[in-house]
Parts: sequence; C-alpha cells; structure tokens
Amino acid sequence: MTVKRTVAFSKNSSNLFFHILTKCNLRCRHCYINPEQHGEKKLPLSTIRAWLDEFASISATTNVIFLGGEPTLHPDLPGAIKYACDGGFGSITVDTNGYLFHDILSKVSPQEVDFFSFSLDGATRKTNDRIRGEGSYDICKKGIQKAIDKGFSASLIYTVSTMNIHELELMPALIKKLGVDRFFIQVIGLRGKVALIGRTEDSKDTLQVSRSKWLDVIPAVARKVAELGVTVSYPKVFLEPEDRFECAGLVAQNYFIFPNGRVYRCPLCEDHPIHSLVFKDNKLIQNESLNESDLFKLNIPEGCVMNKLIQPQNLSYTIGGVPEYKIACCLLKEEVSGVGCQVSAPPLA
Ligand code: SF4
Ligand code: SF4
Repeated sequence: MTVKRTVAFSKNSSNLFFHILTKCNLRCRHCYINPEQHGEKKLPLSTIRAWLDEFASISATTNVIFLGGEPTLHPDLPGAIKYACDGGFGSITVDTNGYLFHDILSKVSPQEVDFFSFSLDGATRKTNDRIRGEGSYDICKKGIQKAIDKGFSASLIYTVSTMNIHELELMPALIKKLGVDRFFIQVIGLRGKVALIGRTEDSKDTLQVSRSKWLDVIPAVARKVAELGVTVSYPKVFLEPEDRFECAGLVAQNYFIFPNGRVYRCPLCEDHPIHSLVFKDNKLIQNESLNESDLFKLNIPEGCVMNKLIQPQNLSYTIGGVPEYKIACCLLKEEVSGVGCQVSAPPLA
C-alpha cells in the first residue's frame, strides 16, 4: 500500500541550492546551466564559507544541496561539506552525475552527507547515453554502487522528456537493483540548453511531454516505485480545479545560488538577470527592482506567471479563452511513499 501527499511549501525550512561551479565533464542535452547568465567561476572555499555564513541564523532549518556543473569537479567540495556540517545545517546533499571526481567518497563520511543524489535519464544505456553522453550510464550506476557500499544514502533523479518517458516504466526494476533510498522524477523545463533548442527547432520537436502523457505515466510509475519502499517525489505540474495555487517565491524559502553571485528564488527565472538577491562583498543583499519578486505577486488565471512567459505551450484554453487548468509552481511536489517509510530529505527543485 502507498500513501500520496502533496508536499506543501514549508514555512519552517529552507533550501539552499548552491552551485559552487558551472563546469561539467558532461554535455547533457537538457542541461539548464547557462554560463552567460551564471558565469564560469569556480568559487574559492573562502567564498563558499562566507556565503554559507550569510544563512547561519537559519542554518538548523536549512538544507544545503551542493550542485554544479558537476560539484565533485571542485577540489574543495569536501571542505565545503565539512564547513556546512560544522555550521549545523539541516541536511547536506550532493547532486552528481556519478563520476565522483577527486575521490570524494573517501574524503567525506556518511555522517557528513545525508544523500548523494545521482542523475540517470534512461533505464537503458542507449537512452541515457543519448541524452547524457557516451559511457555515462555505466559510470553513474557504478558510482551509485560505490556510494552505497561505503554506507552513503543514495537517491536518483530522472528528468522526464519526450526522449525518455517511454523508459520510465522500466525504472522500478532498476531502482530495486540499484538499492537507492529515494527517487526524484523531474520535469524538463525550458531553461538553459533546452530553451535554445526550443528557439531553433520546430516546436513539434519539443522535449516537454503533454499533460495527458504526464498524468498517464508519472503517478502510476511513482506508485510502483513506492511499493518497493522507496520514497518518490515528482512535480505536480497541472493543478486540479480544487487545488489552491501558491507561488513558492512568496511563501517558501528557496535560494538558488550561482557562482557569479546571483541568487534566485525561482528556478524558472534563471535564464534572465532578474534575480531577487545578489552577493556583494560576500554579503547577501536585495537586487534592484524590477526583478523576479515583482512577478511572483501577479495573480493570473493560468497559475504560474513564469510558466506562462517561458513555456505557454503547456497551457490550454476553452473557446471562450478561459484556461482549462492552472499550472502549479514548479516547486510543488507530490510525494508517494510505502506505508512505514520515513521522509527525511528536502523536496529538491
Ligand atoms: S551533468 Fe548536470 S551540469 Fe553536467 S551537463 Fe549534465 S545536466 Fe549539465
Ligand atoms: S515557478 Fe512560478 S509559481 Fe513557482 S516560484 Fe516561480 S514564478 Fe512562482
């Protein structure tokens, strides 16, 4: 038996999605990193520490997720993890493509890292490697095995697009074999490289899946994975008429930090210089208006304002011009767990 719940935005916790560099060894087709907007810097450890210090007053309720690029390419990732640990942050996760550079698993301990979160975008080598690059499937699976063998908790992220939704139904068997604790299903967003593809290719080639396909496939697969005792979360995306719309930018504490000092509250804004906050001389300050915060306040019948601006093709209207449904905040998640499972990690973006 499984239990499904919508994970409301928590007002008592916050999440720091900390991109400590933008460099990566892979060239995934859907990569959202945009060096023009996010810079190409590798943050020195002293800066990482100073920026973490800015959140010290709320550290106990704040989850830190170290990302890149590929965060394990940063030789000071262990130092950053240890500093966050000493600072008493709520939990620490490292999002990785599985290459686990600089022998990271030997330099940190399971007491310091709550989760290594691995990305696979296909249940088979053929599909995953078409999206993420030759050889990445085998290396990621080996990385998961190594992490688990060393006593770390591992989770898996699968970004759903028209290129790989057909393999999602194969994932429960693979997840069982891999032994991961959590499974995050993501929806592809029109950001970074995907936004560029959207501008240059026929719109029929969109990587985004339709509403009917999403609703047909995702909840059913999530249920099957949860039956294995693995907690699954996936974005709600399409609200039902009875669901209340809320913008996380107004009611939750999420910070998406980039190495050029920009700090966004909404991931859909990251391709634009409209960040709410910015690090100046290692102090976190408000960015000048107009910025994303001004958009969060707009109340439109379609739900999420940024969705309407950057990916309106997932909306649908009646003949009278009324939206047939609202699009949820991209940070609103459904969570499915087998009875008795504990939920311990933050909902990731
Ligand atoms: S592993 Fe992550 S950062 Fe690297 S190319 Fe792929 S999506 Fe981008
Ligand atoms: S995705 Fe939409 S609803 Fe969510 S924070 Fe951004 S603008 Fe607000």
